[in-house]
Amino acid sequence: MDDLFLGRLDPNAHPFYQEIATLRVSAHFLIRRQGALTQYVPTDCRAWHAGVSRWQKRTHCNDFSLGIELEGDEKTPFETVQYYQLARLIRTLQRRYPAITDQRIVSHQQIAPQRKWDPGPGFDWHVFYAILAQASPCNQWPLVWQCPTRQREKEETKQS
Ligand SMILES: [Zn+2]
Repeated sequence: MDDLFLGRLDPNAHPFYQEIATLRVSAHFLIRRQGALTQYVPTDCRAWHAGVSRWQKRTHCNDFSLGIELEGDEKTPFETVQYYQLARLIRTLQRRYPAITDQRIVSHQQIAPQRKWDPGPGFDWHVFYAILAQASPCNQWPLVWQCPTRQREKEETKQS
């Protein structure tokens, strides 16, 4: 998966890679079937996961959202461990970004209907909300928050 963002992904390695390679997504996070969490983009940076999108009258959702992808095919039910990891990740993110309330958790399908179908019927929102209600932040994850580009820009404006 890490290869995707270096532009040398072998799309034949895994069916999921094929899908993500054609979509050219780069979400902030990916949660695999076994629950492993990978971060691809610092959270203060913009990632390219939503595409043409709209949420509550605002377009270009990449500008103001964090993207989390779940490994899956939009038909097979997601693994329980993926819900637990997703819930813990969201609680961890909410500590730094309190504006991301539970009501502001939406699917790619909701912000780009007709175009995106994930997470699809394999994702059980009732299970998700039940697990989220019990979840607490995880201190062990070495999440990367700061965007190196934005940091540099900030320093440059300070100097000039
Ligand atoms: Zn997605």
